[in-house]
Amino acid sequence: MQTVYDLVRLAAARRPDHLAIADDRTDRRLTYGQLIGEIDALAAGFAALGIGPGKIVATVLPNLFEHALVLLALHRLGAVPAMINARLKPEEAAGLVQQGGMAATVSLPDEAMVRALGGVLPKGAPLVTVGKGPSGTKPLDECRGKPESVAPWKAPDPESLAFVLYTSGTTGLPKGVMIPHRATDARVLYMSMQCGVVHGTHNKVLGLMPLFHAVGFFSGLMGALAFDGTYHLCSAFDPVRAVEAIEREGITLLYGSPTHLHGILAAPNFSDARMKSVQTVIYAGAAMPGPLLDRVANAFPGRAITNIYGTTEIMNGLYMPNPQGRPHQYRPGYYSNVRVGRIGGTVHDVAEIGEEGELLIDSTADATFLGYLNRPDATAEKMQDGWYRTGDIAMRREDGDLEVRGRVDDMIITGAENVHPYEVETTIAKHPGIAEVVVLGVPDERWGEIVVACVKAGAAKPSEDELDLFCRESTLANYKRPRAYLFFDEIPRNAANKVLRRVLRENAHAALGKRNA
Ligand code: AMP
Repeated sequence: MQTVYDLVRLAAARRPDHLAIADDRTDRRLTYGQLIGEIDALAAGFAALGIGPGKIVATVLPNLFEHALVLLALHRLGAVPAMINARLKPEEAAGLVQQGGMAATVSLPDEAMVRALGGVLPKGAPLVTVGKGPSGTKPLDECRGKPESVAPWKAPDPESLAFVLYTSGTTGLPKGVMIPHRATDARVLYMSMQCGVVHGTHNKVLGLMPLFHAVGFFSGLMGALAFDGTYHLCSAFDPVRAVEAIEREGITLLYGSPTHLHGILAAPNFSDARMKSVQTVIYAGAAMPGPLLDRVANAFPGRAITNIYGTTEIMNGLYMPNPQGRPHQYRPGYYSNVRVGRIGGTVHDVAEIGEEGELLIDSTADATFLGYLNRPDATAEKMQDGWYRTGDIAMRREDGDLEVRGRVDDMIITGAENVHPYEVETTIAKHPGIAEVVVLGVPDERWGEIVVACVKAGAAKPSEDELDLFCRESTLANYKRPRAYLFFDEIPRNAANKVLRRVLRENAHAALGKRNA
């Protein structure tokens, strides 16, 4: 077993002078040798504040250079970073700190945030801030000690808690996902087994995904460091700057959500020539609409493109190399064993080939989480008899691959018929006037729910009638056709770029109410 620190320390022993991490806001750049020095100096500073092995420490930080260092330094000490999305409201972040029984926090110096966090921490617990904060806080700059004072690295128990990540919380309050040390290898190395990333100093990773997300941390940061590569931190996603960075830094690996790739391809300064250095494109977090996938494949000809299906809890369960032409088709990943269970049945009630059910993933695999932090109820709901219930609808095909068809909860039931948003979205996305489309069910007295398409138009906005005709002329069954098209300037998304369906459903409901008033 290799821990996160092992992966960094071994790379530093091999390549002390190679560039490990580069900031995009400042000129800070650290070689592997310097990175180890920084990690140890910060770890010594944290130790002096009383932070030690086994303590859970919340990091409530955006994608800052310091964020990466803080995570590695806490881990080096044997403490457990709990990575809370900095875009949560102060009361929400504080609620998670309290719920997790955390021992300290590292946040921005924002007054409201610090006050909320301080209000739930034990008295006198360290409130570290990146930048100078209000009284009672400790600036990270002053939180440094002698690197040699940190105890030598000791291999931890593989089953012990290493990190707490959070579910994205698109349908409720985020849950703390407890990741053990033994999960690290599988969470990092699948990039080699499945996505064609080869070990070496040529690797240059653009950190598109936030560090607090499983992909941002294990595949972005660690996907660079474990492979002797360089992590180019993106403090915020700006498509124009991303295109510039790819060309300037000679980025080899792009790993983002479909939305990131959409943004990069649509950037005014994008050109195929500027993407020359890219060798590998990986996307995860959501299926990519077919038309976008075609554009990605055309923009990166001959490069390895891989679709990764994963969740924070199990990391990557399914993948698909060269997904062009099969955007919803997946196969089990190298590190996982999967089955399709009948909806409403036990995890041993396995669906037939061709029958839709819930995707279940072997939870005895190394990459799997330990459970939800202080939520045995939620753990028991999702982990049953060695299987993790994903809540996603899947169908096994004759050829052994699977199709993933969206969340069980997102299924629309209209007039007692089931409609999968993904099928309708795939059809509408083919219309050239559509930039983004999300299909959902809105409550309706007569039908139970009606199918509604929420659309972000492209350059030439189509009319509702035009879209309706487009669907009528497609292969989509009549009852699946949207009964309304609502145009939005933006589709609401969370920090990991997932559509906030709940918010969109409320907006759609309100817009329809106004329209019918
Ligand atoms: P999270 O744990 O926040 O990363 O969300 C995991 C969920 O995102 C999964 O249960 C799926 O619903 C969805 N998801 C992730 N990756 C993919 C993908 N490649 N294709 C389709 N859905 C995906």
